[in-house]
Amino acid sequence: MQHINDIYINGQFVQPHGTETMELINPTDKTVIAVVRLADEEDARHAIAAAKAAYKTFSRSSKEARTGYLQRLHDAVQRRAPELIEAMIREYGGTRRMCTATVARSAASFLQSIELLQTFDFVRQAGSARVTMEPLGVVGLITPWNANYGFICSKLATTLVAGSTAVIKPSELSAMQTQLLTQCLHEAGLPPGVFNVVTGRGDTVGAEITRHPDIAKISFTGSTAVGKQIARGAVDTMKRVTLELGGKSPNVLLDDADLATAVPQAVMAASFNNGQACLAGTRLIVPEHRLDEVKQLVRQAVAAMKVGNPGDEDTVVGPLVTQKQYERVQGYIRLGIEEGAELLVGGEGHPEGLEQGYFVKPTVFVNVRNDMRIAREEIFGPVLSILTYRTEEEAVEIANDTVYGLHGYVSGRDLERANRVASQIVAGRIFINGLYDEPRAPFGGFKQSGIGREFGPYGLEAYVEPKAIIGYDVPVHENASR
Ligand code: NAD
Repeated sequence: MQHINDIYINGQFVQPHGTETMELINPTDKTVIAVVRLADEEDARHAIAAAKAAYKTFSRSSKEARTGYLQRLHDAVQRRAPELIEAMIREYGGTRRMCTATVARSAASFLQSIELLQTFDFVRQAGSARVTMEPLGVVGLITPWNANYGFICSKLATTLVAGSTAVIKPSELSAMQTQLLTQCLHEAGLPPGVFNVVTGRGDTVGAEITRHPDIAKISFTGSTAVGKQIARGAVDTMKRVTLELGGKSPNVLLDDADLATAVPQAVMAASFNNGQACLAGTRLIVPEHRLDEVKQLVRQAVAAMKVGNPGDEDTVVGPLVTQKQYERVQGYIRLGIEEGAELLVGGEGHPEGLEQGYFVKPTVFVNVRNDMRIAREEIFGPVLSILTYRTEEEAVEIANDTVYGLHGYVSGRDLERANRVASQIVAGRIFINGLYDEPRAPFGGFKQSGIGREFGPYGLEAYVEPKAIIGYDVPVHENASR
């Protein structure tokens, strides 16, 4: 069994001041795989002080220097990709396919940031003013367990492009992955204090980051409930916040959709990352007169999806991350039945032969009304609700009748019509006729799915602050005569 007894402050792996320990459990077979010693508030304060000290020099570093750091970070993550993939499968239960893609995307985020550093307008003109886009100071990066590598790398990359320094607070449930990733980041040889990693609980380390006056901004990815807490806490010191929160994303099948393609995609949109995805398309909105066809295709698509050992190449759905997640999802499946929805496939309990881990049956409900809790609340497991509509207007109305607005999906042969429907869905991102990956596009939500955007220039805008200098080009003698 592994013991994780260090955190990363000021360029060094150090023992935390915190003494609380926590067991990490492999979700595939419920064995204890590691014990982690967690950081506490004092560790967070040390990390913040190190990042503050490093900021003085780092904020003035050249583009060339930052480009070099970002390239080295990419190379270091890429070099240890196989180990990172194995740790993610073991600790999180992500499927091999998904973990492989995640690690590649995490490394690539540093390269995309180099491109951003070269192309972003850090100096602009506004009338007679010169406007410079300034770094903010120390940024607190708080990340969830369902996308540990991805969000640590992309948030850190953006922080560095901006010229800020970071205190990273990953989920305590990802301590093993974090330790390995931190070793990679360390190997890149950045100046001490530029990034620090304090793995601890949200109500200790996360809360300290939220209230500390030397944190200028928080970039948070996680649940809407915690996002609200952070926003409330951050306002006392007027921190900037980027909040990437939950979702209950609609997937609209138009009546001319190629169902043979769109339905398996819809099932995948609800179950990728083992259903633990913020952008999961969990409300499938289908034309009433095509419901029978959809039901048939859903049954086939779910049957074709291998649920099982996440380490196998062909597994599509692995276990949920913890016992708590398992119970939460079971609770929602029970609730769906109690609310009167019809169980099309799946249901309570483990899939046969997978009782040893936190596996759930991919579950699909039909005859769901949009006012049922299974249609309104983020379940965070492979559970899909199918709702029907009669007119395009009704489809859009159902799609938008949610407190969330992170993502949306539309399928239809007539592209003009699909685009028209997409334009009416209130969400930060929409996929038309497929599942895509576009890391340069802004990512984030409308309504209670968050505040702000990440990725590309839209993301970077939230990590810098405009400063206007007026009179910068006025000779002194002219100035005096004004
Ligand atoms: P969570 O909100 O429970 O935790 C997220 C992070 O916040 C963790 O590091 C946690 O320790 C920390 N935290 C908890 N309480 C805190 C507090 N009081 N102060 C400061 N930090 C605190 O979320 P989770 O369960 O780890 O992740 C699942 C959630 O994340 C889902 O709701 C999912 O939709 C969301 N998510 C959103 C996106 C997105 O980009 N929109 C991406 C991935 C996940």
